[in-house]
Amino acid sequence: ARKGTSNLEAVNVQVILRCRPVNKDEIANRTPQVIQVNEKQSEVVFYQNVAGKMIGRSFHFDKCFGPESGQARLYDQAVSPIVEEVLDGFNCTIFAYGQTGTGKTYTMEGGDRNSEDGHDLSEVAGVIPRAINQIFHHLDSINSEYTVKCSFLELYNEETTDLLAIGDALSRTGDKNKLRMLEDKSGVVVQNLEEIIVKTSADIYGLLDRGSAKRRTAETLLNKQSSRSHSVFCVTVHMRETDTSGEEVIKTGKLHLVDLAGSENISRSGAVDMRAKEAGVINKSLLTLGRVITALVEGSGHIPYRDSKLTRLLRDSLGGRTKTCIIANIAPTVQCQEETLSTLDYAHRAK
Ligand code: ADP
Ligand code: MG
Repeated sequence: ARKGTSNLEAVNVQVILRCRPVNKDEIANRTPQVIQVNEKQSEVVFYQNVAGKMIGRSFHFDKCFGPESGQARLYDQAVSPIVEEVLDGFNCTIFAYGQTGTGKTYTMEGGDRNSEDGHDLSEVAGVIPRAINQIFHHLDSINSEYTVKCSFLELYNEETTDLLAIGDALSRTGDKNKLRMLEDKSGVVVQNLEEIIVKTSADIYGLLDRGSAKRRTAETLLNKQSSRSHSVFCVTVHMRETDTSGEEVIKTGKLHLVDLAGSENISRSGAVDMRAKEAGVINKSLLTLGRVITALVEGSGHIPYRDSKLTRLLRDSLGGRTKTCIIANIAPTVQCQEETLSTLDYAHRAK
């Protein structure tokens, strides 16, 4: 999307800020809080002690959600309009960004999905189950044929693993489990990636649980830090519809739901933290994503999609006629202030 091109190519990046509540330990330790969220003003105020005085610095985003805002509110206000675009035949991506422990996985997957009566989603269900619900609710209400497919993969150290492939978790260290990415006319294809056709939301929940369990088991077995991997859940919807003139149209929409690696090794300037460099934990995909989004927002002619696996994979869902939503997660406490500032800056630059 270059500056001055048609509306159809207008960049559409929305940045949402979410601050998690204090946890039990933080309450017990009376940890000072440095964040104030003013939802009505879409504003976050970051307080810092400067020469003994608390000075507030304000940041504005498309929407802000404070510790009291639950999953339903965030979904209805920020995510649901994007899922509508998918059902209209467009590709969209939702990212959870932030330091480890700020609520990325809580935001994307959430807590226990089932409500007490077992019918509706519970209040703590996250973005993925809610999106699935919205998609099937829509498809069941329209008079058309459809297919829904989903895939779930993990990127770690620029290597791709299929979270839905059957097989024990440890065997994923073998080469057979490292999937290759190939370029074709329509975009990037991940060779041999399982794409499973699902008929009901319950089917997808099963896959989501299977994939998440595999991610966790493998982490434990390999003693790897989950904070360094990205997970990408993808739902593709094909809809066959008849328009007013009786003409048959096929619409395809794709939704990528991405739980990003922890952002703790990326400094405020976007440069790589020296310690991270020494420890060999530079996250190429996370850095490149930042550059791609900056390039899209600035209307740069060159978008460096090819520089990382994550951005290659998401190429057809970033920029162009797509919608992107970044949910930047922060913690309210003083211990996290450096990382919080870094996230606020990163998210702010994406605006
Ligand atoms: P991350 O994936 O960013 O490392 P998690 O999603 O695992 O962080 O969240 C860390 C902890 O905080 C979890 O126990 C999670 O349940 C809790 N948590 C995070 N965000 C919220 C929230 N908005 N409301 C309630 N609990 C939250
Ligand atoms: Mg997580």
